[in-house]
Amino acid sequence: MKELKHYINGQWIESSDPKKLTIINPATQEVIARAPKATKVETEEAIKIAKRTFESGVWSDRSPQERAAVLLQIADKLQENIDELTELEVQNNGKTRREAQSDAEEAVGTFIYYAGLLNMPNGQAYEASSDMQTLIVKEPMGVAGLIVPWNFPLLMSVWKIAPALAAGNSILLKPAEITPMTAVKLFELMNETDLPKGAANLIMGAGSVVGQTIAESNDVDIVSFTGSTGVGRQIMQTAAGNMKKVSLELGGKSPNIIFDDTDLETAVDYSLFGIFMGSGQVCSSGSRILVQEGIYDEFVKKYVEKAKGIRVGPGNDKNAQMGAIVSEQHLESILDYIRIGKEEGATLALGGNRIEKNGLEKGFFIEPTIFTNVTSDMRIVREEIFGPVVAIQKFKDEEEAIKIANDTDFGLAGAVFSTDQNKALRVIKKVRAGITWVNAYHLTNIQAPWGGYKQSGIGRSLGTYGLDEYQETKQININLAPKPIHWFE
Ligand code: NAD
Repeated sequence: MKELKHYINGQWIESSDPKKLTIINPATQEVIARAPKATKVETEEAIKIAKRTFESGVWSDRSPQERAAVLLQIADKLQENIDELTELEVQNNGKTRREAQSDAEEAVGTFIYYAGLLNMPNGQAYEASSDMQTLIVKEPMGVAGLIVPWNFPLLMSVWKIAPALAAGNSILLKPAEITPMTAVKLFELMNETDLPKGAANLIMGAGSVVGQTIAESNDVDIVSFTGSTGVGRQIMQTAAGNMKKVSLELGGKSPNIIFDDTDLETAVDYSLFGIFMGSGQVCSSGSRILVQEGIYDEFVKKYVEKAKGIRVGPGNDKNAQMGAIVSEQHLESILDYIRIGKEEGATLALGGNRIEKNGLEKGFFIEPTIFTNVTSDMRIVREEIFGPVVAIQKFKDEEEAIKIANDTDFGLAGAVFSTDQNKALRVIKKVRAGITWVNAYHLTNIQAPWGGYKQSGIGRSLGTYGLDEYQETKQININLAPKPIHWFE
């Protein structure tokens, strides 16, 4: 069992609070580590160190090429340790090995991508007049407080760390309380590179203490948060104190629209992947499937049949296709929603139970669960369940599909399945969401911006937008022929 420590100013340090958080494997409830809980004072000290490091220029003044070289060192370290990172994620989060490995590979790719961007010109020039040249330059913001959730512990950390460091900021990462393992490993690996001490710091503890302190600190210049919409709203209010920038990647309830003319096999296949990948604990999950009336019955029949075959089990079982739920508390919340769905009068077409047999008794496992006969006012259709629970709705025509799709407070993702490309594009353009697909689901790349409309967030991760998020923009106006302008004469 590992005793975890904070990583501040290049040192591994204990908390003054002797109470620790027990970290478990959700597939077995086996204790795998104990994590420290930072106090408010310790968090403030860590922020001060990040600020001092930023102001010293040891990282912020390095040339983009030099920063890129360090990012590539980190990518190499991650690549060398990809098996261990994968294993740690499987143990701590409960996801399958295939999913964890794909996350670790994408983490490597993210560092490489931002190293590449640093070798491109960044900024603009404008000739305001023959005597006045304007340069538009990008500069680091200062201290970036990075707060991440438990569903992609490594990947969400890296989506923030790589661009924030690329831009020249100093960072303070706060992982989710229950999933710190891969973050600690990542910092062990960064410690072996030429990243200066104090440029990247890791602090563990409660959201209400550590996260709150980061959000309210006058010494933090941007708080970049991925997590629930409720906490995101709270962070935005707290951050208003010093007008720090907020970048919010929040929840979703994404529509997946299937038209009559679709290739049914493909639509069923992607729609399963869309919700049951990651046991539905994915912000962009296609948790609302909208099916046109002509193929509704056939779609539901095939979908339920295929979902029955999904093999649920611990991530380190090579036969497992869907892993554990991250914690007992979250499992209870999902089961509550299933109860609510039944009470609301939806038809439970499949699943609905915790799995407590075949060696899964100790872990937190839920059957793939499908509700049909749902209406847009039901809580299981309106609220993010964040588990392997999908609601299937029927629609008549294009207009109704768009109306139902957009009848939500969220706007993170969405998809359309149709063999009519014109219709598919027409409809997806009307879906009010930031991450969308035509005849696919979940497949994205780090080159494209990631983020949501409406209450799914503010700002974008990844791509060039992801780097922008961590930069200030300055105009420098240069007078090429200085002489008095005689304004007051
Ligand atoms: P959460 O909001 O409970 O916690 C996220 C992080 O915020 C954790 O580190 C937590 O400790 C911290 N936190 C909690 N209270 C805080 C406070 N008052 N101030 C500051 N920080 C605080 O979310 P979760 O349960 O860990 O993750 C699931 C949620 O994350 C889902 O809603 C999901 O949709 C969302 N998510 C969104 C994206 C995206 O890209 N849009 C990606 C992954 C997850």
